[in-house]
Amino acid sequence: MPIRFLPSALIDQIAAGEVVERPASVVKELVENAHDAQARRIAVDVERGGAGLIRVSDDGIGIPADELELAVQRHATSKIATLDDLEGLDSLGFRGEALPSIGSVARMRVVSRVASAATAGEVSVDGGQITPLRPAAHPSGTRIEVRDLFFNVPARRKFLRSDATELGHVLRWIERFALSHPRVAFVLRNSGRMVFEAAAASPAPSGGTGEGESISLRQRVTQVLGEAFMASALPVDRQSGPVHLHGWLGAPTASRSQSDQQFFFVNGRVVRDRVLASAVRLGYRDVLYAGRQPAYVLALDLDPRLVDVNAHPQKLEVRFRDSRQIHDFVMRETLRALAVTAGSGPAPAQHSAPSGPPSGPVSANFLRAAALDLPASSDLPVDWASGAAGPQAQGDAVQEPQPPAPWGAPAATASDQPLGTAIAQLHGIYILAQNRSGLVLVDAHAAHERVLYEQLKQQQSLRVASQRLLEPIVLPLRAHEAVALQRHRGEFERAGFEFDLLGPGTLAVRQVPALWGTADPTGFVQDVVADLLEERGSHHLGSATDRLLGNIACRAAIKANRRLTIAEMNALLRQMEQTERASHCNHGRPTWTQLSMGQLDHMFLRGR
Ligand code: ADP
Ligand code: MG
Repeated sequence: MPIRFLPSALIDQIAAGEVVERPASVVKELVENAHDAQARRIAVDVERGGAGLIRVSDDGIGIPADELELAVQRHATSKIATLDDLEGLDSLGFRGEALPSIGSVARMRVVSRVASAATAGEVSVDGGQITPLRPAAHPSGTRIEVRDLFFNVPARRKFLRSDATELGHVLRWIERFALSHPRVAFVLRNSGRMVFEAAAASPAPSGGTGEGESISLRQRVTQVLGEAFMASALPVDRQSGPVHLHGWLGAPTASRSQSDQQFFFVNGRVVRDRVLASAVRLGYRDVLYAGRQPAYVLALDLDPRLVDVNAHPQKLEVRFRDSRQIHDFVMRETLRALAVTAGSGPAPAQHSAPSGPPSGPVSANFLRAAALDLPASSDLPVDWASGAAGPQAQGDAVQEPQPPAPWGAPAATASDQPLGTAIAQLHGIYILAQNRSGLVLVDAHAAHERVLYEQLKQQQSLRVASQRLLEPIVLPLRAHEAVALQRHRGEFERAGFEFDLLGPGTLAVRQVPALWGTADPTGFVQDVVADLLEERGSHHLGSATDRLLGNIACRAAIKANRRLTIAEMNALLRQMEQTERASHCNHGRPTWTQLSMGQLDHMFLRGR
């Protein structure tokens, strides 16, 4: 075949291959256009999940009649004119490709009127064929209808899935827009039936702009992601130089088996960026069980010159000028928000009434605040778990003979501790304690595990205190186990281990972390090695050490059915108060919860 230029209709169809994959991508492009036209209200109507019809109507600035024919042609855009404009881009579109691409693979009709014009104009494009401008009737704003998507590209049409699946994809995009553009009202209808509706959030936190329907940002996010997410979400809002990160992090207890509730926006643009996703994942790694996915909605706003959005035709990827710095900033803020554990969320008193057990840990805000006033007791025994109630149990040991304080007459000092004073242990698992607002329930193993883990991590830079064993523990080892162990030798040493491979099949452990006192560590070492082998390959980036420490903490933490003395329970409560992220164990399970007197009264119908 001789070389020749492609016909322009074919060029559009080829370009359409990149932009238009399915009904949802048409919806995405049209909604982006409506947003760029400053619409306050965007309505999306589809039939058969979008395969039959997609109609997007907006109340934006409209397209002047004399520009309508241009709007549907390739590389025609009102959004940039120079390379400088591209660098400082503040619109979602800029390529001038969407309308011609859609028009080349469907039957498209564009009706639009600018506020100042007497009548609206209309053009249509049928599989690339433009019908010239004609007058039409339409309120100010734009309506674009797309029928019979891929009617002329059978190969593509074949790839469309069921109507329900396509509708699902459309809905996902609308949800993302609704989250990233909370000031815009959205509706999505399928064959006239309402599928999704979100009212506009008002700019002022408490509303009052007189716009009748407007709601708060918080309510808006709740409309999209549901009460379950919002009830325990931790707010993030941090400005650092030209970069602003804000949004909500789902609590570890709201983690999911899928990544379906992870939303990240950069300058209002939905992105799926590996740098950002990994930063958040690392921020969560200490509070989530392997394989669990966090839920979050985060928006990063920054000077447009610091980010290149031109990296991908569907614009899902972005390139940061300094991606290392952005990564670290996002990771740090995620860690920080999770460390506070409940941020500025609802106070414990608002914890809703008990028609069943409380759904999760209450705000630990007050806990953190109070912890600052506590006398420093970092000299609490690290080997608390050993049960060796040695001479170190000072302070708390005095309380040992103290009988449980009677209900309603709390001991003066005790009730001031955020997590209260231990009263009893339930079935060898839970610690019951009494604090100012009522009853505290603690999962002793989970809580102890978290405390140990944080201690190990803190000591790690200096190496964990270790103890030399009188007799080395000699363990049989398989070849692949020995290899794995060798590879992680550095981490084991930082965690307080010292070992030698005596021969191909034998390991001698000479030194172990100091934290479990006199208990026989043989089983413990075997468990940790087994954990290590099992988890090989599933490590997050750079977190192998933390994973190992997590396993050590889990193995070393007190087990169920170990009877605890009141002093031991109180020591744990005090350590929890001093530990970051104390309200979740490192598998993301809650470590404690509070039942307030109000909730108890409610349960017993007291004072009604
Ligand atoms: P881009 O968005 O990259 O500029 P499009 O092909 O999506 O390219 O749109 C072409 C032009 O048509 C836009 O630049 C804009 O001027 C105009 N346009 C498209 N949709 C709308 C709309 N809903 N409201 C107002 N103008 C629109
Ligand atoms: Mg566009």
